[in-house]
Amino acid sequence: MSNLKIIIAPDPRLLEVSKHVTLINNEVKGLLKDMLEIMYKSNGIGLAAPQVGVLKRLVVMDCAEQGTKKNPLKFINPEILNLSSEKSEFEEGCLSLPTQHAKVERPSIIEVKYEDENGKKIKKKFSGIEATCLQHEIDHLDGKLFVDHISKLKKNRIIKKLEKIKKTKNL
Ligand SMILES: [Zn+2]
Repeated sequence: MSNLKIIIAPDPRLLEVSKHVTLINNEVKGLLKDMLEIMYKSNGIGLAAPQVGVLKRLVVMDCAEQGTKKNPLKFINPEILNLSSEKSEFEEGCLSLPTQHAKVERPSIIEVKYEDENGKKIKKKFSGIEATCLQHEIDHLDGKLFVDHISKLKKNRIIKKLEKIKKTKNL
């Protein structure tokens, strides 16, 4: 069992830019495994390393529908190569912004390059909820949250709510 803890916004650590992973060692592989575990336990569909306080460009994701076979994906140094001009809107949430949701518009299809655990370079297209989720997670690696895509007014309202939640729950 891992002892990772998900960081709740507002927190300056969620605004940092994460570092490129140059060496895929057992520490990195173990971290990806632990990240998937805490993501599943928290009923999330994606998680980026900075959300557990590790400033490395690592993302895990599983957008398989409930009741279907698991589809865990691990991304090392994910980078968006192409974005479609067509956009989609999804109601987004985030394990670092518990109980908060907002509609966010993002490109519908993305082409991403990343490395797998064996250091193999992969180029792949994602669409639908996977495209939205992966853009959301890559944003985390650059210190951005989904509330940065909505109006300042709505963002401030959500951040204020989270401040209250953090105080009352002592997070
Ligand atoms: Zn998130």
